[in-house]
Amino acid sequence: MSKIISIANQKGGVGKTTTAINFVASLAFLGHETLIVDMDPQSNTTSGLGLDKNSSENIYRMLIGETQVEDTIKKTSIDWLDAIPSNIDLIAAEVEFADKPGRENLLTNCLTKLKNIYKYIVIDCPPTLGFLTINSLVASKSVIIPIQCEYYALEGLGQLLKTIELIKGGLNPKLAIEGVLITMYDSRLNLANLVIDEVRKYFKEKVYDTIIPRTVRLAEAPSYGKPIITYDKSSRGSEVYIELANEFLKKQI
Ligand code: ATP
Ligand code: MG
Repeated sequence: MSKIISIANQKGGVGKTTTAINFVASLAFLGHETLIVDMDPQSNTTSGLGLDKNSSENIYRMLIGETQVEDTIKKTSIDWLDAIPSNIDLIAAEVEFADKPGRENLLTNCLTKLKNIYKYIVIDCPPTLGFLTINSLVASKSVIIPIQCEYYALEGLGQLLKTIELIKGGLNPKLAIEGVLITMYDSRLNLANLVIDEVRKYFKEKVYDTIIPRTVRLAEAPSYGKPIITYDKSSRGSEVYIELANEFLKKQI
């Protein structure tokens, strides 16, 4: 049975996609059959894995039932890692399904068909708390929340936690917080350690010991369509995402 995990934070640019791509690549590297689902119309996960953003088999067409789930899955350049690509058309989904009953369960219904194929299914969410993120959270067992190591790190998180609680209280009682990940840590900033203390005070043992540093190589890799593990295997960014995968495997709920 697959474990489905959303990478979510409605704040933009906090490292969701970078984490999703490199976390799944590390899980696959460690020998786990993994699927990544790009639920963001920006399609950064799709392009960051070197896949076509204009494929006619994409998550939008899968959600509206125009393509079969099995036909939407693409192989990636990494062994044990497959992907469901996104497409800009996904923006329309929210409006199209605005008053359709069962609209929150579309992704759950699609992923059910895959539950015996993958060990892990990881969903990269968009920076909103709308229809797409709700579909992701309803389909998930748990959520990893990346938090950028900056001054207003915790701002806006109340809304995400409220959304998680609402979903837990209704559409998906099994949903839980898997872990909180500090991203883009810059040791030269005095502030950085204060932010880490604040995040740990708030989320306690949910915060991963692994902290993702800000590195140029992590920012460069997507423009080559590669996860860091194939773009520059010996880099700090590559090591640290493997550390994260190992920590996740050890602590997972
Ligand atoms: P969005 O909310 O738009 O989906 P996101 O939360 O998915 O954004 P990313 O796209 O992963 O965030 O990261 C935002 C930007 O920061 C990107 O340009 C990315 O390359 C860069 N970035 C992310 N993590 C790191 C890092 N550890 N070191 C350096 N740059 C990073
Ligand atoms: Mg993103």
